Amino acid sequence: MTAVRQEGGIVLIDAGMAFPDEEMPGIDLVLPDWSYLRDHRDELRAVVLTHGHEDHVGSLPYLLREFDIPVYGTRLTLGLVRPKLAEHGIKRADLREVKAGDTVDVAGFGLEFINVNHSIPDAVAVALRTAAGIVVFSGDYKVDLTPIEGAPMDLSRYAALGEEGVLAYFGDSTNAERPGYVPSERIVGETFNEVFETAEGRIIVASFASHIHRISQVVEAAKQHDRLVGVTGRSMIRNVQIARELGYLDLPQEMYVDQRDVNQIPDSDIVILTTGSQGEPMAALSRIAAGTHRTIEAGPGDVVIISATPVPGNERGVSRTINSLMKRGAEVLYTPLRAVHVSGHAAREEQKLVLSLLKPRYLVPVHGEFRHLRHHAETGVGMGIPRENIFVLENGDRMEFRDGNARKIEPVPAGMFLVDAGTVADTSESIMRERQQLSEEGMFIVVARINAQTGDLLGPPDVISRGFVDPQAQNGLVDESIGVVTQTLQRTASSHVTDWSELKKAIRKDLSSFLSEKTRKRPIILPLIVEV
Ligand SMILES: [Zn+2]
Ligand SMILES: [Zn+2]
Repeated sequence: MTAVRQEGGIVLIDAGMAFPDEEMPGIDLVLPDWSYLRDHRDELRAVVLTHGHEDHVGSLPYLLREFDIPVYGTRLTLGLVRPKLAEHGIKRADLREVKAGDTVDVAGFGLEFINVNHSIPDAVAVALRTAAGIVVFSGDYKVDLTPIEGAPMDLSRYAALGEEGVLAYFGDSTNAERPGYVPSERIVGETFNEVFETAEGRIIVASFASHIHRISQVVEAAKQHDRLVGVTGRSMIRNVQIARELGYLDLPQEMYVDQRDVNQIPDSDIVILTTGSQGEPMAALSRIAAGTHRTIEAGPGDVVIISATPVPGNERGVSRTINSLMKRGAEVLYTPLRAVHVSGHAAREEQKLVLSLLKPRYLVPVHGEFRHLRHHAETGVGMGIPRENIFVLENGDRMEFRDGNARKIEPVPAGMFLVDAGTVADTSESIMRERQQLSEEGMFIVVARINAQTGDLLGPPDVISRGFVDPQAQNGLVDESIGVVTQTLQRTASSHVTDWSELKKAIRKDLSSFLSEKTRKRPIILPLIVEV
């Protein structure tokens, strides 16, 4: 999410989310920290969406719950957003449909939407005419000169803006490390045709549910090879339906097979579209691989195409899925072994092409890990942009443009909001630390019964451990722990400690150093004092 602010208001570009990493156990979603927006609530005018991917629209329901502002987006983007808002109980969102080529005035910002190619239809770049000059946000893009549907990226608009003079360009950096050009989406269709030509059993294709062009190529191959199309996986079923309704996918009803009916069709007459290209444990393909899908099985003679590459962090899950499918006897096709996927993000030569057309005074590489931003910056230097005119920013960083000059000014808070069980959690890092410690080190509970008047210990304390050591197998350790706690309590009783929190602290300290010495583990220690 990027906020663009000038006198007259703030316009937001995208409202994305991230998925939690392994350091955030129990967290469902990660939202941007928008305390800055709360502080400037009165200036908020609109949020502009570049395309319908989760990392660009995922936090919108949470944003709109807090700020009642109009949302600008293209038809498919809004089509994907609408059911999400409904799911969150947001009934009356002000959704304003735009299309590539449109210009709209929002609070003194002249917004122009420019067609780009990406791994989802209806993606746009946004040019903002601000008081300081023209600022271009690329959105996620690639240059596909033979796209599956719609037009190639509108390079002529970029050229025209470049002639007019672009103050700053905020460009997608995802593939900045990758030399050359990303091939056209069409080559995937060619591979599909080759596979469909020879396959005799079932064909199962896993892809991102939002990759309508990819889905559309599967459907086209099915038409050519007389196969019906089965669909499984919640988001795949939903997105196929939305895309059909809005006219982005030509899948006639007579070709569509509900997942409950796939077994009524001979294997050689069907292709099944599924979720799970990222190895997500609950997704349909993972269940097919594990043999736990309600209706769909894969085995000898079947071909499974993983039409995606794993997002960093998902490699193990994808690999597990591939192994399981192979053990079942299915043939599994994936990149780079077969050209069953191409990226939706521009590689270096495309990034150069864009820079040469826009000729921005300032380059701000965005979208990607820090290393990708750095590489995009180097590409800019190679294209003749002065190093001091390139700003590699981190979340929360702020730039100011004044009289044609840019500088970095003091940052704003920009941590993360973590969504736990559907509600925005208390973000506190200490909770995440505790969960990690619990999962890695376990828990140790000490119950001590104490005479409320004298502070004397009444009998030996009880020790309960979870996820730490097996109490049966480690009886010695439990007994010794009881000894340690007894000593602590006798010591504190003799020095007349009556403050139970002091007592608990002492138990925690003594027990922690004993356990870490004995086991090299630091479980969470919970002392409970029972007054009798
Ligand atoms: Zn995207
Ligand atoms: Zn993205």
